[in-house]
Amino acid sequence: MLELHNVSHIYPNGTRALDDVSLTIPKGMFGLLGPNGAGKSTLMRTIATLQLPTSGRLVFDGIDVLAQPEAIRAQLGYLPQDFGVYPRVSAYDLLDHMAVLKGIAGRGERRDTVETLLNQVNLWDVRRKAVAGYSGGMRQRFGIAQALIGNPRLVIVDEPTAGLDPEERNRFLNLLAEIGENVVVILSTHIVEDVTDLCPRMAILGQGHILLEGAPGALIDGL
Ligand code: ADP
Ligand code: ADP
Repeated sequence: MLELHNVSHIYPNGTRALDDVSLTIPKGMFGLLGPNGAGKSTLMRTIATLQLPTSGRLVFDGIDVLAQPEAIRAQLGYLPQDFGVYPRVSAYDLLDHMAVLKGIAGRGERRDTVETLLNQVNLWDVRRKAVAGYSGGMRQRFGIAQALIGNPRLVIVDEPTAGLDPEERNRFLNLLAEIGENVVVILSTHIVEDVTDLCPRMAILGQGHILLEGAPGALIDGL
């Protein structure tokens, strides 16, 4: 469970991107919905410990995120919105390198990790092809594979379905739903259906404020 207590973020130019955000995010899929500029990416980067809030507190499973960022990073998988570096290296080799960076040192353990992930995201057949040549959907599935190295308990995905065709989108969201059975998955998006289709809980962010929070059915009917 992730708790946000009165989190605010003011950029140096004075933009108040997050204004006193308090939220409790349970295990499972959690949708963060809001229009462009609402503050979603700022909130995702704050939870990912890439950015410090101006004020407020974050607690993940009892650990103070700001006091112990390393402890949270060890539990974290992050698929940023601009995950866009697609080198001419195969998915297999990239995941293998990333597993080394995550501290998975043994060759055998690394092979198991990489092979399991490639199967999970359905990229096994193209594992030897350069990621640069992948379609948008394949890249996003590769992105979630790299985010899942090391079995994170907190997974953050920022606007993951932008530019995906309907089939790829469904495939990607189903994959997230599988992951969300065991861990906290926060899905940030401006697409209402991404959230209503698969998140039991959601919040709507607007101009840095939480406007609504609850189960999608109740919230969307009330709009
Ligand atoms: P979203 O992800 O919902 O589109 P963002 O978190 O990217 O929202 O942005 C929230 C607000 O903060 C917007 O007004 C945006 O222009 C502003 N903003 C984002 N990043 C910066 C930054 N580095 N410096 C100044 N303002 C920023
Ligand atoms: P988003 O779709 O999340 O709103 P943007 O296109 O607004 O993304 O932002 C892309 C990048 O530019 C981010 O790193 C963000 O922090 C930065 N950014 C956004 N708005 C501003 C701003 N007003 N001033 C400076 N940087 C900004």
